[in-house]
Amino acid sequence: MNSISPSPSSSCPLCKARGDLFLKIPDPVYGQQFDVHQCSSCATCYTNPQPSPGLLSKIYSGEYWLRGEKTANRKSAAGLVQQFNRMRLAAMVNPLVRRLNPGDRILEVGCGSGQLAFYLKECGFDVEVTDVSQEILTEIANKCQIEGYCGDLGDILFNGQRYNAIIFNNVLEHLDAPDRNLQKACHLLVSGGLIFIEVPNIAGAQFRIFKHRWFPLQLPEHLFHFSPDSLQAICLRCGLQRVWLSTFSPRVSPAGYVASLFPALRPDSLRRSMSKPLLGLYLGLQLFFLPVAFFESLVGMGSAVRVMYRKLDER
Ligand SMILES: [Zn+2]
Repeated sequence: MNSISPSPSSSCPLCKARGDLFLKIPDPVYGQQFDVHQCSSCATCYTNPQPSPGLLSKIYSGEYWLRGEKTANRKSAAGLVQQFNRMRLAAMVNPLVRRLNPGDRILEVGCGSGQLAFYLKECGFDVEVTDVSQEILTEIANKCQIEGYCGDLGDILFNGQRYNAIIFNNVLEHLDAPDRNLQKACHLLVSGGLIFIEVPNIAGAQFRIFKHRWFPLQLPEHLFHFSPDSLQAICLRCGLQRVWLSTFSPRVSPAGYVASLFPALRPDSLRRSMSKPLLGLYLGLQLFFLPVAFFESLVGMGSAVRVMYRKLDER
């Protein structure tokens, strides 16, 4: 979809019902005005106007992730950061790992740097990944012998493979058709297979506190802004049953506070600087905000939707 001027109402990208202004963003991003609208029918929030494919491909160059890794490898602080990230990923995906058996087949959609896929392979699972960057997939295949499929999940031909679990780790909000992607994922699962999703939660306390300054909003590359309810509505239409939900994310929840309050401690700034005092401050602040973020989730107001769905029957 090409970019157009923002207007107070729009058409929901998912169900085509009318959407209205939900959050006005005061400043342009990449020289363009983007706002958040909410659908009057399915209640999903989305970025309006949706950014053009040209702008999105500029934002996501394969270099983005790889550059981060290469910078990290040069600096001695990298080991600490990688260890920290690994601990957070392990905790993030633990509810899924506990429900699977060694050797089960997992597909990670939009694998980014591949860190989660490496971890799951080490846990003894048969892991495959998808990404839109062939460069990243080649790097992951060479480094860890993990098979990758390039492109959008909806367009990839899988030759009849079925998976025990499919993971969307902070990916669904980036996709222009999250409903179509979940439907495809559902077709790729064995009967009783699991879909594990983590996305930022626009119904959480952090969004209410920070509004347009909430870091996980990430306009315009986050095309959708889910809540537990709006995601549930999409998953129900796909024939999925929710089996587990938390609004706490070990990765996103404390980091959401840190990055929203201190722009110098946002992931892109840290990747550039890799200075030890800054990293120390980042880790210290994350620990400080951990109990706050956890408390929010106890009352259902955490900053993430971390959720697991089960496929009921073969359709
Ligand atoms: Zn809608």
